[in-house]
Amino acid sequence: MTDTIFGKITRGEIPTEFLHEDDHCVVIRDIHPQATTHVLIIPRKPIPKLSDAAPEDQALLGHLLLVAGKVAQQLSVDNAFRLVINNGEEGGQTVFHLHLHILAGRNMTEGELATGLH
Ligand code: 5GP
Repeated sequence: MTDTIFGKITRGEIPTEFLHEDDHCVVIRDIHPQATTHVLIIPRKPIPKLSDAAPEDQALLGHLLLVAGKVAQQLSVDNAFRLVINNGEEGGQTVFHLHLHILAGRNMTEGELATGLH
């Protein structure tokens, strides 16, 4: 399995501030924010993309959603945020290590953010 920048970040090989970390995932700020609040939830397990997840990943995937809700609360955006997973190159994915985007802090009902990233 090929390593990515997110593999290095989750292993602590690239110094990055973690807004949250636990045994299963880390949360970091996106380097090129698409909204006032733009953070990434990255599992430590390097699943390349969501469609590669297996039944054994069920608990992990559920955990990532729970962390998303908690981090949104921590960042005071829990009343209005969007969760995005880009899957595959044509789906807008650029880093092939599964991650969830939390986007918040500007009007999420208009423009490009109404449908997601990019
Ligand atoms: P994707 O397009 O794969 O869904 O999202 C990848 C995201 O990772 C992009 O929003 C990009 O800005 C972000 N990103 C890429 N490299 C880095 C990095 O080294 N550090 C951080 N914090 N974000 C990154």
